[in-house]
Amino acid sequence: MKERFLAELRALGPVLVDEPLSRHTTIGIGGPAGAYFAARSEEQLRGALRAARGHGVPVFVLGAGSNVLVRDGGIRGLVIENATDRVEGPEPNGAGFKVRAASGVSFAALARRLSFAGYSGLEWACGIPGTLGGAAVYNAGAYGRSLVDVLKRVRLVDADNGVVEMRPEELSLSYRTSAFTTGALQDRVVLSVDLALDKGDPNDLRARVRELDARRLAAQPRGRNSGSMFRNPAEHPAWWLIDQVDLRGHRIGNAQISHQHTNFFLNLGGARATDVLALMDLARSRVRERFGIELANEVATVGEP
Ligand SMILES: Cc1cc2nc3c(=O)[nH]c(=O)nc-3n(C[C@H](O)[C@H](O)[C@H](O)COP(=O)(O)OP(=O)(O)OC[C@H]3O[C@@H](n4cnc5c(N)ncnc54)[C@H](O)[C@@H]3O)c2cc1C
Repeated sequence: MKERFLAELRALGPVLVDEPLSRHTTIGIGGPAGAYFAARSEEQLRGALRAARGHGVPVFVLGAGSNVLVRDGGIRGLVIENATDRVEGPEPNGAGFKVRAASGVSFAALARRLSFAGYSGLEWACGIPGTLGGAAVYNAGAYGRSLVDVLKRVRLVDADNGVVEMRPEELSLSYRTSAFTTGALQDRVVLSVDLALDKGDPNDLRARVRELDARRLAAQPRGRNSGSMFRNPAEHPAWWLIDQVDLRGHRIGNAQISHQHTNFFLNLGGARATDVLALMDLARSRVRERFGIELANEVATVGEP
């Protein structure tokens, strides 16, 4: 890593060298980052991006690490953890309310806080780990709803380090994909999102959140994981396909397909990315052979082997 680049970055805040990314992903897996910088404000986020791009250093923006599998060789270049946390609103906007939240804000925490305060529209998101930036990239959703239902606008950093605003129609948001994952916006960084909410009854909203919490608790395994590994194909849910090919509880190294939910893969302690990738390959090939269906990754696989 170039010293001049590191010095520029250190002027913005503390920098960690060779930081294990296993400390920053929900599944607890991932090799080291060449340099690791936690951006606590939009200025720091944009400054770190500008520094890396100016020095030709590859950049990876990490949210809460709840939808990534970082390979064991880690990520060369700079990893910016998005720890931005500014929230503006809710403020009246037409018939409803508007909230502008930094992309580093926890989606679940924001949804929970607003629901409990009597703003409706985000109850379904109260159990989705990850940041709002990650939610925009994946159009995160649950129980038949997704971010696009409440999204009004995103602000993002473009390839020239300028800030542009985009409407949801420009982001190609669909089931766990967007122009950020597959299209023209792949190197863009989401800075903030504007959400549209309505006024609701706090008691009703609290009851709804409790009900969804109970459903999630019953359905999802404890232990370290990255949520759903595969997207659900149109024909059948991924968990059902994986169950049908007898992989419930299957283990490779210290990675295991959950007994409770077969689209969740667990790190039993010290699992490597190669173990998880081998489990994913096994599930994919068995499902292909038996059903002729190709399982597509929901989790983003990044870094060096
Ligand atoms: C237990 C569990 C339950 C889950 N349940 C659900 C669920 O019900 N519904 C659902 O949709 N998902 C679910 N997920 C998956 C995950 O929470 C979501 O995909 C989440 O939106 C990812 O956000 P993140 O901040 O963790 O992203 P990360 O995992 O940190 O990053 C994922 C990708 O997004 C990119 N990215 C992150 N932030 C930005 C940004 N600001 N700008 C540009 N790119 C960015 C990263 O570079 C990376 O490529 C679950 C995960 C877990 C562990």
